[in-house]
Amino acid sequence: MSLTGNWSYPTTMKFGAGRIKELPAACAQAGIKRPLLVTDKGLANLPVTQATLDIMEAADLGRAIFSEVDPNPNEINLAAGVAAYKAGDHDGVIAFGGGSGLDLGKMVAFMAGQTRPVWDYEDVGDWWTRANSDAIAPIIAVPTTAGTGSEVGRASVITNSVTHVKKIIFHPKVLPAVVICDPELTVGMPKFITAGTGLDAFAHCVEAFSSPHYHPMSQGIALEGMRLVINYLPRAYSDGTDIEARAQMMSAAAMGATAFQKGLGAIHAMSHPIGAVFNTHHGTTNAVCMPAVLDLNADVIAERFDRATGYLGISGGFDGFRSFVQEFNDSLGIPRHLSDLGVTAEAIPDLVAGAITDPSCGGNPVTLTEENLTALFHAAL
Ligand SMILES: [Zn+2]
Repeated sequence: MSLTGNWSYPTTMKFGAGRIKELPAACAQAGIKRPLLVTDKGLANLPVTQATLDIMEAADLGRAIFSEVDPNPNEINLAAGVAAYKAGDHDGVIAFGGGSGLDLGKMVAFMAGQTRPVWDYEDVGDWWTRANSDAIAPIIAVPTTAGTGSEVGRASVITNSVTHVKKIIFHPKVLPAVVICDPELTVGMPKFITAGTGLDAFAHCVEAFSSPHYHPMSQGIALEGMRLVINYLPRAYSDGTDIEARAQMMSAAAMGATAFQKGLGAIHAMSHPIGAVFNTHHGTTNAVCMPAVLDLNADVIAERFDRATGYLGISGGFDGFRSFVQEFNDSLGIPRHLSDLGVTAEAIPDLVAGAITDPSCGGNPVTLTEENLTALFHAAL
């Protein structure tokens, strides 16, 4: 089976190995003649990025790049990106990379034409209607990892450099107009990034599948997303050049982000403040938190996982799934405890305070309180 497709939802997607060659066609489709490629510092000089700039240049699209993007992009990176966008008289953005490059690229296109500070567009109520939507530049997204799924998302996470709090900035038109998913771009990922990002996709699917909100479409996407991660992440981890495994993981990443419209839960509510305080890898942190969260939610989600495990090829229903998750983490080199990531017991009150105000809280099947969150952090520590 050829793992290639032209998909129309959640947006226009060109999926398949080698399809980065179609970047000029994607620019034409999105109405972009003078693109600015936005990526992070780590990726800027890698061959995969330079080859993409070569493709742009050969098609008379220039080779403009902005890469002053930190691993947790903040408003300073954003202001510099918008300045570069305006100085270069660009008319659209190619958001290129893992979560940071994709998120910041989307925000540069969004903020280039706005007049209010970015925090005024936080994902609260209808704040997004404050934006001038006609001024949002077109966006093409090109993921180079398989985890975040930000390429199919309508929001970006921007860290406030003063308060160190991560804010979600939302607008429907931040959804990229065209996405190129080329699994060949992900073969250079080191093992621990393959594991961490892949398990982020897994956490998106597990939390969406567990969320109590009514959304059967997301439920189905989350279930198949879990199956793809379970079957293909071990292959991508052991042989990074396995293109079939890389392609299936790239699908799973986009599916996780599509599914979590239904809601995220305690894993992300814990992981966001941990990442903001201790600068840990997001997906790795999620993976460490998952077993404790499954224990907390067990009574409410057991029945739906009893049904799912047959399809996932796991015996023993929910209990089997719970044991599987621990073995899966172990096999992918994920540490067992948050303390292994540098998290300290003294920080728990602050982490609880951050978790309880995190927007992911509302999607957890068991209502989160200061009490059960404190117990969760201690269990995961
Ligand atoms: Zn995540």
